[in-house]
Amino acid sequence: MSDCIFCKIVKGEIPAKKVYEDDKVIAFNDISPQSPIHILVIPKNHISSANDINDENKEIIGHIFSVISNIAKSEGIADKGYRIVNNCGEDGGQTVSHIHFHILGGRQLQWPPG
Ligand code: AMP
Ligand code: ZN
Repeated sequence: MSDCIFCKIVKGEIPAKKVYEDDKVIAFNDISPQSPIHILVIPKNHISSANDINDENKEIIGHIFSVISNIAKSEGIADKGYRIVNNCGEDGGQTVSHIHFHILGGRQLQWPPG
């Protein structure tokens, strides 16, 4: 999508501090970190939100969780724990309409969310 900021990061048109990349996904530091470790993992293909996951594209979600597991280990937060967040739509607090999974870690996180 031409006006999508995360598609622009995928294409290298907007800079991002990448922590992982392969042919299907990219992971980069969140520009406004909410915890010592705050990384976003996104598919390279534009998918707007969890509402658009279907039988044709669902494999990417398993791949993303496998990537998250590896990043958590490489960032040193796997043992103490971390949170994976996917905000969907307006009430869910989604501000960028390109599906993304937050990895939040490095401190004790509170529950429930606001
Ligand atoms: P959400 O509110 O779940 O849609 O999350 C969007 C996230 O994208 C927020 O945590 C923002 O800080 C982050 N974000 C927005 N623009 C950028 C950018 N150019 N580079 C890195 N992270 C970004
Ligand atoms: Zn996009």
